[in-house]
Amino acid sequence: MDDGSGARPPGAPIRGSCLCGGIAWQAEPPLELMSHCHCSMCRKIHGAAFGTYVVAAAEGFGFARGESQIAFHASSKGNRRAFCPTCGSLVPGEAREGRVAMPAGCLDDDPGVRPLAHIFVASRPAWSFFDDAVPAFDTTPPGFDIPAQPDPPAWGEPGGVRGSCLCRAVRYRLESSPTLARHCHCRRCRKARSAAHTTNLFLEAAGVRFEAGEDRVRTYKLPEARYFAVAFCEICSSGVPRISAERGIAVVPMGGLDDDPVIRPASHIYTGSKAPWHEIRDGLTVHEAGDI
Ligand SMILES: [Zn+2]
Ligand SMILES: [Zn+2]
Ligand SMILES: [Zn+2]
Repeated sequence: MDDGSGARPPGAPIRGSCLCGGIAWQAEPPLELMSHCHCSMCRKIHGAAFGTYVVAAAEGFGFARGESQIAFHASSKGNRRAFCPTCGSLVPGEAREGRVAMPAGCLDDDPGVRPLAHIFVASRPAWSFFDDAVPAFDTTPPGFDIPAQPDPPAWGEPGGVRGSCLCRAVRYRLESSPTLARHCHCRRCRKARSAAHTTNLFLEAAGVRFEAGEDRVRTYKLPEARYFAVAFCEICSSGVPRISAERGIAVVPMGGLDDDPVIRPASHIYTGSKAPWHEIRDGLTVHEAGDI
């Protein structure tokens, strides 16, 4: 596998795979209709600021391996999100009207197209900000009549900063102050969240209290990594807090939060590995590698 920055023969299929590599696919170019979706469902299921999808013709699309392992979550009427049950990455779902939507964060190659729009921007949380040249729409561009998804209803009593997965099986509160929030563009993070980048906040491990569904949290640790692991809901695949007992910290994917955590992302790290289709233009500090 390469990181998508190498030269690819013109017309070669565009490859994608989940974080653990168990599920892989390819699609014939050209791809089309790439967009950043800020709807609350994408935010929750990716655990990220937004999800980015690109569409392939079903005819030229196929799984290279792992298709039989794919798990599904019915996220809304007639829409099933597909994911890897081992690592939690989102993967392409079922073909609809001859097209397959692929989560761009899991692509191993440059898709050859660039995002046409930010959609459902009205659903964006206060900590999510962008200023790139891609046209932004409160819902969808004219002619695409996809109804906006209502924000998920509040749950439980207010107090601390609440968070939950898309299916609401996993619910938690942050009860101490986060010390840091930042965007990470490394390849592992992009695959883990199947998105352009992660936006995580960090706090002491004891500061996260699970109120429901802790037994539904599955963790996948990358075998070759010292620490890198992801935690996700086994029912819906949403990113949820990962408690690192070793390091005494909790890593929380901000897309899962239901309340404003007040802290704002301070920087972008590992931008040297950022997706070729994503432009960073929000004025925050940029670090080509880590910042420590
Ligand atoms: Zn996987
Ligand atoms: Zn969406
Ligand atoms: Zn869930």
